[in-house]
Amino acid sequence: MPAAPPETPTAPRTLAPQKSAPQRAMEKLGLKRDIDLALHLPLRYEDETRVTPIADAPDGEPVQVEGIVRESRIETRTRRQLLVRISDDGDSLLLRFLNFYPSHQRTLAVGARVRVRGELRSGFFGREMVHPSFKAVDEHTPLATSLTPVYPASAQLPQAYLRKAVAAALARAPLAEVLPPGSVPAGLPTLREALQWLHQPAAGVSLAALEDRSHPAWQRLKFEELLAQQLSQLAAQRERTRQRAPLLRSRRGGLHEQLLAALPFPLTAAQRRVGDEIAADLARPQGSGDAAVPMHRLLQGDVGSGKTVVAALAAAVAIDAGWQCALMAPTELLAEQHFRKLVQWLAPLLEPRGLGLAWLTGSRKGKGRRQMVERVASGEAALVVGTHAVIQDDVRFAKLGLAVIDEQHRFGVAQRLELRRKLASQSLEPHLLMMSATPIPRTLAMTYFADLDVSTIDELPPGRTPVLTKVFADSRREQVIARIADEVARGRQVYWVCPLIEESEHVDLQNATATHAQLSAALPGRKVGLLHGRMAAAEKTAVMSQFAGGEMAVLVATTVVEVGVDVPNASLMVIEHAERFGLSQLHQLRGRVGRGAVASVCVLLYQGPLSATGRDRLRAMAETHDGFEIARRDLEIRGPGEFMGARQSGDALLRFADLADDAPLLRQARALAPVLLARHPGAAQAQVARWLDKRADFLKA
Ligand code: ADP
Ligand code: MG
Repeated sequence: MPAAPPETPTAPRTLAPQKSAPQRAMEKLGLKRDIDLALHLPLRYEDETRVTPIADAPDGEPVQVEGIVRESRIETRTRRQLLVRISDDGDSLLLRFLNFYPSHQRTLAVGARVRVRGELRSGFFGREMVHPSFKAVDEHTPLATSLTPVYPASAQLPQAYLRKAVAAALARAPLAEVLPPGSVPAGLPTLREALQWLHQPAAGVSLAALEDRSHPAWQRLKFEELLAQQLSQLAAQRERTRQRAPLLRSRRGGLHEQLLAALPFPLTAAQRRVGDEIAADLARPQGSGDAAVPMHRLLQGDVGSGKTVVAALAAAVAIDAGWQCALMAPTELLAEQHFRKLVQWLAPLLEPRGLGLAWLTGSRKGKGRRQMVERVASGEAALVVGTHAVIQDDVRFAKLGLAVIDEQHRFGVAQRLELRRKLASQSLEPHLLMMSATPIPRTLAMTYFADLDVSTIDELPPGRTPVLTKVFADSRREQVIARIADEVARGRQVYWVCPLIEESEHVDLQNATATHAQLSAALPGRKVGLLHGRMAAAEKTAVMSQFAGGEMAVLVATTVVEVGVDVPNASLMVIEHAERFGLSQLHQLRGRVGRGAVASVCVLLYQGPLSATGRDRLRAMAETHDGFEIARRDLEIRGPGEFMGARQSGDALLRFADLADDAPLLRQARALAPVLLARHPGAAQAQVARWLDKRADFLKA
């Protein structure tokens, strides 16, 4: 990093009429309130408490030396740069600046005494430091008495500015103890003490102690954070149990039983069990018994475990009781698949009752859409399937009793919040069922989703054969293509998936097109299709129905096939650039094959060299098929923030605590939360406000 110009930055002004660039940069980092700055912890520390003789300074480690400038010149031969030679009693050292200001030259004039920090390396001209930080000193300038914090910053936000801002905010921040005596685990410092210690370590505190997250100061911070999470979840749960939803009891001989009888297969034991859990939620009486406690349940089950039919059965209960059900999917393609399946199952049963299904997506516009919206408003559409277009402003439900969200983690946080607002606009809240093939590890469920009941389908329908996963370098592409020809000759179908990453959408699309051409050439007389996100909905549908109908042998697709697509005759999936995909995404993709009785193969083609994370991911895929195990490893490789899609919202939900390491603290926070809410509601509220501010909303989404 280039050294900051040595001018001292001005202290942050609190009443500045116009915000300075660093102030704006701070706000961008979410550093608005004093408490935000106080909780902005150093990334690392620099040791400016010592000066090392140049002769003793090791190569490749940050070190501080001091010397007199012997020579200072600008070189222009290769590229313009400032070269400064300093020496102390024992040795000399070259400082090299590729970017420099006139102030650099003034401070580094011959004869000046300077203190310099940087990493030494041995170059062509002897030992040198590139872009060290430096300051003018005299023989009596005191050394720092404590370690210097280095904060996460940005280009517009100089360290020195941020340091001052944090120090000032730390002094002002309302850090008084809000928790009643005896509630914090024994032996931990106060929050103020903990933050003081981390921001301004006293002389003698070692780097090792500061970085050790089991230190009491760290423990205090983590405990605070976990407690705030637990409190906000518990409060949300209490609030929910006071709300009222329609009481939906399944009737003997009702729609629910009719649907069960009409299904072409018996339910698995796991499907029956989770179905019972959902039925119990829908009929859990509230207060005087004329309404129910709103359901807030996550149905998780590996890809192919049969969640859709469970949702359809819940919908049948709601419809039978005279209410409407909405089913939302993250993509149009998936919504359409659901729609087709549900029409097939439910339409014959609804028709005699004068009811039907409606389909609402973004691409459905004009008159078609208006008609659908009217049928939803009149209540004639008992089941409404679609993308998030289902919750757009002009859509009014006559009587929405149940909302089902498929692949709920694929919806953005903002969309989930919007949905909740929409649902809350009726006098009776609808029940909410979320479905996901990405199981939530238990510890994560305990923190983020404490206000969520979880049902798990832990069994696949009978007759599935596990998918064999192979990892190949892209150099074996020809071999893979030969394998595709074999598979196709046997009447099977093949997916070839190309990554589509937003930033390089154009290039990736070219890749997919090139692959499509290559496969078409290699498979004369066979139909090879192409499916990508830029295609119009009708085109996508046409391609998908050709593939589903078996006329198309190979489907080259960008990740739009990821969720939910169901073609049991597909027995081979090739994933190109597998190293670019996340673990859960790979697992979802792989779930598209192995849906029938034939043995299936998934080939992960990668382009080397692989990063350590990339290698871990591909290995995990080859080693396990268990969605739970995959989710656990995903959490390990990526951390919980990314796991929950929190990255999209720009808010890591847990900043200090680590769910794997801090299970004991989590248990303590979990035990304390109900006690605080009951006996010290003021303290509970203060705790949540301090830590979560607006983020509390996100937790509910
Ligand atoms: P997912 O849980 O991934 O959403 P789906 O609901 O799409 O899975 O179901 C996958 C496939 O299994 C579908 O073709 C579905 O009709 C079928 N299926 C669901 N339940 C059973 C069952 N009990 N027996 C046989 N097939 C089933
Ligand atoms: Mg599904």
